[in-house]
Amino acid sequence: MYTTVLNLTQELINIPSISPSDLGCQEILINRLKSNGFFIERMNFKDTKNFWAWRGVGRTITFVGHTDVVPAGNKNNWNTPPFTSTISNGMLFGRGAVDMKGSIAAMFIAVENFIKQKPNYKGRISFLITSDEESSGKNGTKKIVSILKKRKENIDYCLVGEPTSEKKLGDCIKVGRRGSISADLTIYGKQGHVAYPNKVINPIHSALPFLLDLSSFSFGYEDDFFDPVTIQISKICSGANYTSNMVPGELQVSFNIRFGSSVTDKEIIDIVQKILFKYSFKYLISWKLHAKPFFSIPRKLCSVLTQSIYKNVNIRPTQKTNGGTSDGRFFFNWAKEIAEFGLLNLTIHQENECVNILDLFRLQKIYYDILNKLFYK
Ligand SMILES: [Zn+2]
Repeated sequence: MYTTVLNLTQELINIPSISPSDLGCQEILINRLKSNGFFIERMNFKDTKNFWAWRGVGRTITFVGHTDVVPAGNKNNWNTPPFTSTISNGMLFGRGAVDMKGSIAAMFIAVENFIKQKPNYKGRISFLITSDEESSGKNGTKKIVSILKKRKENIDYCLVGEPTSEKKLGDCIKVGRRGSISADLTIYGKQGHVAYPNKVINPIHSALPFLLDLSSFSFGYEDDFFDPVTIQISKICSGANYTSNMVPGELQVSFNIRFGSSVTDKEIIDIVQKILFKYSFKYLISWKLHAKPFFSIPRKLCSVLTQSIYKNVNIRPTQKTNGGTSDGRFFFNWAKEIAEFGLLNLTIHQENECVNILDLFRLQKIYYDILNKLFYK
């Protein structure tokens, strides 16, 4: 019996593959690919399942996706069981409906239809699927990419199926992502009784002007493709929450900075260091670079994607780089072009995650048209 994109999405939602578990999602996909003549390479590491699959020769498109999902959260806030796909009013509910089992189903059915209708297409269709995009990602896409790079695999078009649409399917594609760097800062003082201010150095008081300075600092960098640099303080903790008559000896502060390609992580560290130098408190700071920014110059893939979107939903997508980081960054400086396009991201990671069923079919058609335009003339 023919499987529709809706059937396949439901089948995947019904498997509670909370990151980094896969629980058999990938075997379903692998079996489908095998019966369509794909070569399969499983690349499992520790708790993470991954596979690389390909069919054909020549110019290569790689569909990138993940079978893991974030946890359901508070199940009482769900109107339907999160891991039982449920249809209501034209919407399909369930964890992963949008991020990104629906999109995976759309890719797979689109590819199957394309192979059936155009078996002699000119090019190579490939998939890179992981079960750890939502957790640490240590053994996921990053690792597979480094293996494939080493053996000089070639990717011309990297299409990541993350949910990029904002208000309507097709209104936004991503051609890059901002970088992300975090710092853990400890500010030291001198602990003591609150009634004897002369005998203490209050690290909270020391930190206040610095935090104000830091959080209102304008990095002044903007360019055409990236939003301005933003900084968010995410944690302030003195550890003295068990008493009210003690000045704490130290204060821990964490903050994160999102940045585009016009400033480097090293420059950011220098800027923060300079702000810190203005103050006399003792401190220790450690940095963690989560992701460098990337920007993929829109070329053939973007133009084909834009045309396919316009043909199916009558919208011209805007090209953006906003939002969190994505696995797209691992393909930078390797794949010749990277673009991300998928379903509406309104309910991702939330309770009652849902997708418009018509959008699933539309997305499938858009993915199909991309293949048609790239590989069949
Ligand atoms: Zn995702």
